[in-house]
Amino acid sequence: MLRTHTCGELSLEDVNQSVVLCGWVQRVRDKGGMIWLDLRDRYGITQLLFEEGKTPAQVLETARSLGREFVVSAKGEVIERLSKNDKISTGAIEIRVSELNVLNPAKLPPFLIEDETDGGDDIRMKYRYLDLRRNIVRKNLQLRHQVARYTRAYLDDLDFIEVETPVLIKSTPEGARDFVVPSRMNPGQFYALPQSPQTFKQLLMVAGFDRYYQIVKCFRDEDLRADRQPEFTQIDCEMSFVTQEDVLSTFEGMIRNLFSKVKNIELPEVPRMTYADAMRQYGSDKPDIRFEMKFTELKGGDQDLTSGKGFGVFDDAELVIGICATDCASYTRKQIDELTDWLKRPQIGAKGLVYVRYNTDGSIKSSVDKFYSDEDIKKWVVALNAKPGDLILILSGQADKARKQLNELRLEMGTRLGLRNPEEYRALWVLDFPLLEFGETENRWFAMHHPFTSPKIEDIELLDHSLGMVRANAYDMVINGVEVGGGSVRIFERGLQQKMFEILGFSQEEAQEQFGFLMNAFEFGAPPHAGIAFGFDRLCSIFGGADSIRDFIAFPKNNSGRDVMIDSPSVISDAQLKELAINVV
Ligand code: ASP
Repeated sequence: MLRTHTCGELSLEDVNQSVVLCGWVQRVRDKGGMIWLDLRDRYGITQLLFEEGKTPAQVLETARSLGREFVVSAKGEVIERLSKNDKISTGAIEIRVSELNVLNPAKLPPFLIEDETDGGDDIRMKYRYLDLRRNIVRKNLQLRHQVARYTRAYLDDLDFIEVETPVLIKSTPEGARDFVVPSRMNPGQFYALPQSPQTFKQLLMVAGFDRYYQIVKCFRDEDLRADRQPEFTQIDCEMSFVTQEDVLSTFEGMIRNLFSKVKNIELPEVPRMTYADAMRQYGSDKPDIRFEMKFTELKGGDQDLTSGKGFGVFDDAELVIGICATDCASYTRKQIDELTDWLKRPQIGAKGLVYVRYNTDGSIKSSVDKFYSDEDIKKWVVALNAKPGDLILILSGQADKARKQLNELRLEMGTRLGLRNPEEYRALWVLDFPLLEFGETENRWFAMHHPFTSPKIEDIELLDHSLGMVRANAYDMVINGVEVGGGSVRIFERGLQQKMFEILGFSQEEAQEQFGFLMNAFEFGAPPHAGIAFGFDRLCSIFGGADSIRDFIAFPKNNSGRDVMIDSPSVISDAQLKELAINVV
């Protein structure tokens, strides 16, 4: 090797040793008679010392010629430092350099390669290899490596085997949009990149593999949001001869194990909530349960505490729901107006906000005093279990919309009140999702999870008349309000699978053409099976306490799906197009 040690390992114990270090020049401080140089590699920073009179003249001259990010090797003796730096592990020593070689000079980098950089997003993406030299970014990827390593160790111990599934597969109409790849050898035909290895892992169960996992790239051609990438990684898993309960306990175990190994946090047992309860109490299928502030229905179900008092908005509403913000009665009119404007933005689309201030002196003031007596409003206060000093915030309207809007308001209030501490982790299983959801624009039913998900046995009979009521054996894991994984018990009989495709609007021929391979396999001894997939990038970002998954991907794409470093996607030559039998007009 070109070096005896890394830049992160020398300490007082090594004093007097002769060493060779290699790395990048982070910084040079030339004080005339003395030059100090911070040499950086992945492992840390070590200070090099050059001293007029003691360091050979040639070496001093070389040291003075160095620029930032030059790659050098330095030979010298480890000595104790006079002024120590307790912020870095090598801060007690420095190297008195006797030989210095420039292994490769470097152009001046376009931004500072330090924790606090002066580089904007775009430039750092363009020079991602320089950004990756920064501690913060590199640490995220080291964390990612740890998560992968402990995931593998956990699953290996439970007899899961990692199997690679193909990347060039077949386009199917369900799910998100496919990325497609033209086939040169089959002109006019296309492969698709997998949105997930779903059908392959099920076939591995038919093949008797019993327990499968794969840390695998998946591709979805969706419009990008800040936290989405067109290619992303899943921890994809499947098990045979299991119930939903087995899957939940196995993967709850995995997540708790990861928290323990990666974060040194002992996560308590993961609570469970049905989809119906999640929607009713939080207006979301991925509630953030770090804080309470559950919804109370003032009008809804068999309760109605709002109608018949002349307030048309509530009279006409399908649902009137409120949350109680502890100790917020002191909110000023201005603050409430500002919240109202926030709710009225098109992204949320609420028509207005009704509030009740339950003042610390016990008096009550609401924005609908004109319509409701103190008596009326006291009933709300009781229903919401509000205490003097609390502020009640109420939304109304069509049920789904009102719930969605109040979910946003609840999260916003949680953030404003400091109830969403990123260092605190609360995981949750959401269970019993509906099997199907109706697409109004398409005027047909869609699988809420995917078409291979099994309905609950007790709900199968509803498939004949009440599709919207059928519950699935499907489950999501949610951490701090973020969906990190989801899966289901699968259909493993041809008849039921065929029926499912029928419900989704496939003709028999279409179903056979698209998914015949799977349904055929079900006729050759398919075991009952179930599985789950976790969003690996997302999981890493949660462990890293960050919002964006991009920071945990070595070479991510930007919001337009572009890799600005290699400048892709790009046009291809006419010759290539011709070879692929693609005509461009
Ligand atoms: N393949 C599913 C997904 O990508 C997960 C599963 O059902 O295992 O969401």
